[in-house]
Amino acid sequence: MSVRPLTVVVAGAGLTGLVSAFQLRRGLGPGARIVVVDPDDRVGGKLRTVDTAEGPIEVGAEAYLGFRKDATDFFEGLGLSDELVVPSGMPSTIYAAGELRAMPRTTVMGVPASSEGLQGLLSDDTCARIDAEGDPEVTAPLHWVHGDDVNLGQLVESRLGREVVDHLVSPLLGGVYSSLADDLGLRATVPQLAGALDAMTAVGEPVSLTAAARRVLDQRAEANEARLASGAVAAPIFRTFRNGYRKVYDALVEQAAPELELGVGVESIADAEAGGAGASKAVTLTDGRILDADAVVLAAPAPATGALLATVAPDAAEIIGAIDLASSAVVAMRFDDAEGLPDYSGILIAADAPVDAKAFTFSSKKWPHLGERGGAVVRGSFGRFGDDSLVHLSDEELTAKSLADLESLTGFAGQPAEVVVQRWWGGIPRYGVGHGDLMRFADAALDDVPRVAAAGAWHRGPGIPACIADAKAAAAKIINDLA
Ligand SMILES: Cc1cc2nc3c(=O)[nH]c(=O)nc-3n(C[C@H](O)[C@H](O)[C@H](O)COP(=O)(O)OP(=O)(O)OC[C@H]3O[C@@H](n4cnc5c(N)ncnc54)[C@H](O)[C@@H]3O)c2cc1C
Repeated sequence: MSVRPLTVVVAGAGLTGLVSAFQLRRGLGPGARIVVVDPDDRVGGKLRTVDTAEGPIEVGAEAYLGFRKDATDFFEGLGLSDELVVPSGMPSTIYAAGELRAMPRTTVMGVPASSEGLQGLLSDDTCARIDAEGDPEVTAPLHWVHGDDVNLGQLVESRLGREVVDHLVSPLLGGVYSSLADDLGLRATVPQLAGALDAMTAVGEPVSLTAAARRVLDQRAEANEARLASGAVAAPIFRTFRNGYRKVYDALVEQAAPELELGVGVESIADAEAGGAGASKAVTLTDGRILDADAVVLAAPAPATGALLATVAPDAAEIIGAIDLASSAVVAMRFDDAEGLPDYSGILIAADAPVDAKAFTFSSKKWPHLGERGGAVVRGSFGRFGDDSLVHLSDEELTAKSLADLESLTGFAGQPAEVVVQRWWGGIPRYGVGHGDLMRFADAALDDVPRVAAAGAWHRGPGIPACIADAKAAAAKIINDLA
């Protein structure tokens, strides 16, 4: 009689699904059957490296936070130490109030502690308002309830004015969350600031946004001084991979050794007949096949994960399924000649600027390994939550907009030798007000469901390190449930 191997189905072959599969392989050993299912015809999800005549470039995620040692350790553990590279250190810029300007350094994700260095980028009136916001004689203190969450854009506008939202906070957060500040929750997106507001309330200080930003900046300066005093080397802000994220997803597939089911999705999950919640799962695929699985990891985007949880964890399903997604498009352009492209790593663009792009990355300036190839690589980004009209444009239209905006912001009028347009429909989940609390409810509901775990960009942060940490936790839950 043949014995069925221990079987785990992973829904989603993006980073979260592949890291989950890798961890499951390590925990369950070579005899386990790990099946990774994805309706796409490739692995990687929002990680995508494509080839140009001069070498590979990214059209999805292009870096990760270099100070996240857990992520670097993970990649080194995959054997990718030699692939890891750091940025050139060229400064980034912001286009606001009709000019390209140096990125201000004294803000917390765009929320300033004072108007210092912001003149020109903001009007004199706004600068005066910023400087008066922390003075209880002039501006009434902010009414803040410990642990509360609010709409980030509304909070900043009400205290500091619209310009601060449009010229600083939305461009800075938009690159990460593909949303304007008006569509984001404070606590999930700028947790340090929320923590500082809580801390001020706890000690009975008059609360203001600028004083909270000052607290965060002071804490950072202190941590920096302590690091210098201890002789520790500063971690780079970002890291990436010499030959692209392809190295990561290929290494994960090789080492996790899953059965890959591409071009087919998971349609539904149910408890195996007569087994109850603790039993194995019947996993129905979109082509009608049914897999008999001992456990399931859901690593698909939020709406799909919500739908898949409908039967086995209806409370979690409702919360996760309600998370909104933002669509965007990347226009990656390779130029034979970099003459005239300014020496910046890129441009973030004010929400009220008269251009269509929301940001440009000068990839070949930002990353020495790309710059060494000669010519230039520039990525234009378009689209944000609530407005995907630009994402619907044709490749030709998006390329034309990219070139026109690049020229109007920098004067660079090169013609690209190669262009890759990548649309990311529902590419980034929206971290709205109360996201953290909602996720805690969903987690509590899922904790009660053995043999099912869910993880992904929608859960504890969309960044690469957060996805890796989330995938590890999901795999650990399954390994524990199956022990
Ligand atoms: C343009 C862009 C730039 C970014 N830049 C950065 C960056 O520089 N640094 C950074 O840290 N992060 C960045 N991110 C965020 C980061 O890339 C993503 O959050 C992360 O890769 C998401 O991984 P994931 O596996 O959770 O989700 P995904 O990559 O979305 O993978 C989920 C997979 O599930 C599959 N799926 C869907 N439905 C089903 C189903 N029914 N059954 C089975 N599978 C299903 C999908 O096809 C997909 O392949 C960027 C994101 C985008 C879109």
